[in-house]
Amino acid sequence: MNENDSEKVLYLLGDLYEQTPHPEEADLILVNTCSVREKPEHKLYSEIGRFKDQKKRNPGLIVGVMGCVAQQEGENLLKRYPHIDMILGTQGFYRIREALELISSGKRPVVFTDLKEDFKFPLVLPQKPQNRRVTAYVSIMQGCDNFCSYCIVPYVRGREISRKPEEILDEIKYLVEMEGVREVTLLGQNVNSYGKKERDFPDFAELLERVSQIDGLWRIRFTTSHPKDLCEKLMRVIAENPKVCKHIHLPLQAGSNRVLKRMNRKYTREEFLEKVEKLRLLCPDIGITTDIIVGFPGETEEDFEETLDILRQVRFQEIFSFKYSDRPFTTAKRFSDKLPESVKEERLKRVHSLQAEISKEIYRSYLGKEVEVLVEGISSKDPQKLTGRSTQNLVVNFTAPRLDMAGTLVKVLIEEAGQHSLRGRYLATLQV
Ligand code: SF4
Repeated sequence: MNENDSEKVLYLLGDLYEQTPHPEEADLILVNTCSVREKPEHKLYSEIGRFKDQKKRNPGLIVGVMGCVAQQEGENLLKRYPHIDMILGTQGFYRIREALELISSGKRPVVFTDLKEDFKFPLVLPQKPQNRRVTAYVSIMQGCDNFCSYCIVPYVRGREISRKPEEILDEIKYLVEMEGVREVTLLGQNVNSYGKKERDFPDFAELLERVSQIDGLWRIRFTTSHPKDLCEKLMRVIAENPKVCKHIHLPLQAGSNRVLKRMNRKYTREEFLEKVEKLRLLCPDIGITTDIIVGFPGETEEDFEETLDILRQVRFQEIFSFKYSDRPFTTAKRFSDKLPESVKEERLKRVHSLQAEISKEIYRSYLGKEVEVLVEGISSKDPQKLTGRSTQNLVVNFTAPRLDMAGTLVKVLIEEAGQHSLRGRYLATLQV
């Protein structure tokens, strides 16, 4: 999501600024921030402090903060960091040109942190076609109405708003025709509820069908799916539409009904397991990944064992696991039964070690198989190899007769399985 917002800012400033890989030479530094977890937020504060000296050396330098922390802290940031020139919230960053004009007319600092429920997403496309690329992110909605008790998103990204389907389709057509994009990932906090609040909008399953009709687009991914809104209609589109990748990220968060209830997730472990079973029945080769939070307030050893039990039953391809941390504004922050850091650490280790075994077996099950890979380019780990992803979103690095195959769909024979990737060799080109 943040990467996509950064890209939009680059598009909005395309005729004013050029990107530089050397921040010390920049005339404008804009830090995009995430406050979903505590760690990146703390990193931001040390980053901003560093720009103070740079500003002394270059008084013309403009320093801005955008994204969730900008939204969350607003003007408070200025008290600690008076050298910040602009603070652009999660909707405010679309007004970056206006902010720059105000600053150049001497009106600093600029703070745009309004969150409007009827916010209309401007359609932001590059002012000139960017470099050719194979994959791209496309936001289809913003905000969230779910208020999971640990999550800051509804407070910093506002209520859920879906983009108009025509605009989404126009953006994807542009990416395909002008930049050669072959795979898009549709982004939203809960894509499964796309269009539910708007009149005459397609639902998410219908949106996927419409996107799949775009000529030249080969693959569609999406993230994130809230388990409570995963319906059979959507499962069938994933299973039956050949352009929709056979992968779903379905955040479980916890395996105990008591914890799920306190998290306000609105599904039970039984419902989650039932949906996974149906999904696998309809689409046996689907790759399923998830998020887990360990050490939620009041989580007992028995609750935690239930999380491990679901990991064993479902056998997720990969998991993203985190220790619970308090986030501002949230209900869980006010819970009094917080767990000691040592318990959270220990549970996180146990989750990691169980999942490492499961992922290892899943990766090994691909040995000797032929998989379709969309080539994204040269592997960053080995310049003699190409890299891409299978439909299940597994990273595949492989040898090939040529290295200029980015943007082609190829068949690869899997010969080795690593911890988080597969290795193999090119067999044939399937689509150019
Ligand atoms: S669904 Fe829950 S975890 Fe996801 S963004 Fe919304 S409130 Fe946060």
